[in-house]
Amino acid sequence: MALIKCPECGHEVSDEALSCPNCGHPLKSINQITQQSPVTIEQTAKKWKVVKLVSAIFMIIGLFLFLRGLSAGGFENAKTGLGFFIAFVSFIGLLVGKFGAWWTNR
Ligand SMILES: [Zn+2]
Repeated sequence: MALIKCPECGHEVSDEALSCPNCGHPLKSINQITQQSPVTIEQTAKKWKVVKLVSAIFMIIGLFLFLRGLSAGGFENAKTGLGFFIAFVSFIGLLVGKFGAWWTNR
């Protein structure tokens, strides 16, 4: 921690201070304060968004296969089981994405 001179009144102020205690002149811009850490939070949120997006796509594919298999040969059809499996796994992926985003943004 160092002391700097206030550009407004010349009073010696800690460089950690947000504003001069003598005259109230702001020493750190709002940008400097807000732009310190949210970038990493945004990046992790993006990562979970990708997980959710990929899961959603696979869920649609799985459900599509499931319905196609169901109409073609019911539960005996191989597509039905495979579609159900893909939909189930991607559903877990969606939950993981939701939980992960919640966990990192807590
Ligand atoms: Zn000042």
